Amino acid sequence: MDLRERDRAVLWHPCTQMQDHERLPPIAIRRAHGVWLEDEHGRRYLDAISSWWVNLFGHAHPTISAAVCRQAQDLEHVLLAGFTHEPAVALAERLIEMSPAEPENKKRLTRCFYADNGSTAVEVALKMSFHYWRNRGDTRKTRFIALENAYHGETLGALAVSDLPLYRESYGPLLMDVIRAPSPDCYHRKPGEGWGAYSARRFEPLARLLERHADEVCAVIIEPLVQCAGGMRMYHPVYLERLRAACDAVGVHLIADEVAVGFGRTGSMFACEQAAVSPDFLCLSKGLTGGYLALGAVLTTDEVYGAFYGDFASRIAFLHSHSYTGNPLACRAALATLGLFDERPVLEHNRLLARTMATATAHLHDHPHVAEVRQTGMIVAIELVKDKVHRVPYPWQERRGRIVYVHGLSRGVLLRPLGDVIYFMPPYVITEDEIRLMAEVATEGIERATAE
Ligand code: PMP
Repeated sequence: MDLRERDRAVLWHPCTQMQDHERLPPIAIRRAHGVWLEDEHGRRYLDAISSWWVNLFGHAHPTISAAVCRQAQDLEHVLLAGFTHEPAVALAERLIEMSPAEPENKKRLTRCFYADNGSTAVEVALKMSFHYWRNRGDTRKTRFIALENAYHGETLGALAVSDLPLYRESYGPLLMDVIRAPSPDCYHRKPGEGWGAYSARRFEPLARLLERHADEVCAVIIEPLVQCAGGMRMYHPVYLERLRAACDAVGVHLIADEVAVGFGRTGSMFACEQAAVSPDFLCLSKGLTGGYLALGAVLTTDEVYGAFYGDFASRIAFLHSHSYTGNPLACRAALATLGLFDERPVLEHNRLLARTMATATAHLHDHPHVAEVRQTGMIVAIELVKDKVHRVPYPWQERRGRIVYVHGLSRGVLLRPLGDVIYFMPPYVITEDEIRLMAEVATEGIERATAE
């Protein structure tokens, strides 16, 4: 049996209707280097989406690979309860030092709690926030405010604060009840209205919800600047600025889920920096290990940490755990990845790449079936619609985005659209020529997908 047959006999793939594989079997990758994946027949695919946004500096990066290999020879894993190790401590120090702080350190993140992926980082933040209020004697706070079109992961707590019907519909009865606020997503702004004005206007309903529900709300959870899984929908930092001030005013936590946008994706190291705010909880994962190993981290404040600190008998400890919490190999991969930001001016270089991505996609603004080409830093999204003037989407059953996906594969570019939103979120080692190739293949795919 070849690998595909063996796969079909035993594997169940994530985020996949397995029947689709009858017509388009999974591609067997045997190695990868830089932005290129190579399949079992030697065919190459440019990884335009950083393998679900985890890869920052290319596949099989020699520095990260060497760091993980060295670590594997000394200590592969030890439980982090009752024990500690250099990689976990050094990474916590590093993350705290680089985390977004507010002017004059009004709010600072000083503690790192490890999880093992993005969803579990979100679970940790939700539980910690709720538990903080409870430890403080405020048992009325049991709810969360989350945004429309949000995505925070697929475990039940993370799914509850998410808002994408595709992922949550089937599980409705299992999910906690969340207060939903309108999204600041600028796709829906009026013609001629700027991003700043629109996002500021969209903050108003949330301001009212906060005033009305502050007594029962633990935290507001958001994806700063880009709602990624929700179709790479983008908004202005003014929204974060106002949200931070409003949360402070009414005594509600702010959870910033930077699982997807952290580590330079939006142009700054963390998206929160663009609004000069610091959250009460910062959730990190994905790019944290450069795409090598599963690791999550939640950074929080002294204030939160202090509410859990006391005599064991007081029963205020945070007893949450995952077996692989703070895994040494993953922490080492993260340290090596963050080290690469020190070696060269990555964010500066990304500005050049971002400009090239803008130029390479500029012609699509006028395409009759492109509603919008939008960009925040290293993320570019192209939204296909049936009717450009009224922004009427294609019926989802037509799966137009999938036509682009299939075309991309035939031309050696991995584009995995979110519905009818084609996007680029490449590793930072992509060249300008590769950006142009990516845009050319996407354009061909869009032509094909919108031809009739
Ligand atoms: N939060 C955000 C903003 C995400 O984009 C994702 C994953 N796409 C998650 C959380 C969940 O991360 P994971 O897939 O590692 O559980």
